[in-house]
Amino acid sequence: MLDIDSIRKDFPFLEAENGENPLVYFDNASTTQKPIQVLNKLDQFYRKSNANVHRGVYRLSQQATDAYENARKKIAGFINAKDDRSIIFTRGTTESINLVAYAWAQQQLKPGDEILVTEMEHHSNLVPWQITAERTGAILKYIPLNDDLELDLEKPEKYFTPKTKVFALIHKSNALGKLNPVQQLIRHAKTVGAITVVDGAQSVPHTTVDVQQLGCDFFAFSGHKMLGPTGVGVLFGKPELLESMEPFQSGGEMIEKVTMTHSTWNDIPWKFEAGTPNIAQAVGLGKAIDFLQNISMKKVEEHIGELTEYGMKNLSEINGVRIYNKKNIHGGIISFNVDGVHPHDLAQFLDQDNIAIRTGHHCTQPIMKKLGISGTARISFYIYNTKEEIDKLCGCMKSTLNYFA
Ligand code: PLP
Repeated sequence: MLDIDSIRKDFPFLEAENGENPLVYFDNASTTQKPIQVLNKLDQFYRKSNANVHRGVYRLSQQATDAYENARKKIAGFINAKDDRSIIFTRGTTESINLVAYAWAQQQLKPGDEILVTEMEHHSNLVPWQITAERTGAILKYIPLNDDLELDLEKPEKYFTPKTKVFALIHKSNALGKLNPVQQLIRHAKTVGAITVVDGAQSVPHTTVDVQQLGCDFFAFSGHKMLGPTGVGVLFGKPELLESMEPFQSGGEMIEKVTMTHSTWNDIPWKFEAGTPNIAQAVGLGKAIDFLQNISMKKVEEHIGELTEYGMKNLSEINGVRIYNKKNIHGGIISFNVDGVHPHDLAQFLDQDNIAIRTGHHCTQPIMKKLGISGTARISFYIYNTKEEIDKLCGCMKSTLNYFA
């Protein structure tokens, strides 16, 4: 069991101000709040250690470099990457996936090659592949959703052909909370020699991820969805693939030698970190990982699962509520609509009671199309949420629905 009271004390954002209604923050799949330890780390870094990395020989620059590179080590350990050189700091999941699409796929693919995605993707793991297909002449294919809103995996082998060169898939759905059998699917991709790209934006914050066990070639996630600062994310890549790739962006930091006509590249991972990197944010992400590891990812997952089950049960007892992802009872996400009420109206009413929920298509328009709707209301949980907050939400929803009745 998590000691929620003690955890909540670490999140100043959740404190009620001047007798106001305390914030109930249920938009964690979008971004999480930050604990005081991460805020202090950022503050401390800028006050005491701020200098550019890898460039200075003075002590401060070396301290900043150590802090930045230690964060890389920590992240490698967190996802069980064998080699720190596999960890590239990016701005987030979106940039990480674009890096693979531009620097690997757009260089390697030929007309007629196939890129396989799924109908469950966030736009971040779909649009870069659409652009890649247009630019290279590759064909974009996808594993569809079945009527239960799960990937159609009755015969997964039928989607993989000798022409499949890239298989990009979402680990955990931000709209449905479904954790996909990524390891099994990667095995299929490997039988046809495809490279595999996993969008872990929602899985890493919730569960223990082991990139060696998954067997993926690339794995992307964002710091801000797991208590870290915005502006920092990670691309894990197998060193041999990263070594074989051309740079994504170019300029300072990523070079070895530059003449007026030609340049050679730095070693990985710095070859992919052009310009001054997001130093403080990377250090802050390292602190967020310390925070999560102190709690233990097992407990994080259990708590989120318990809240989801409780939330689904209580919400489904409210008249007119239709939950779309009832099967994913522990996924941390509840996507729903209420008969006769537009989700935006619902969110605005709840906001008056200081309850923040997300509404819209959640960057998953193909899933909404499959459901025949334009959007849903979405609640998503994290470690500081409580059952009392769910009770409050349900109470406010009942009053809102009475108003609309
Ligand atoms: N993939 C998934 C599954 C997401 O939920 C998100 C963000 O909501 C992203 C990718 C994009 O993440 P970012 O905006 O941090 O790049």
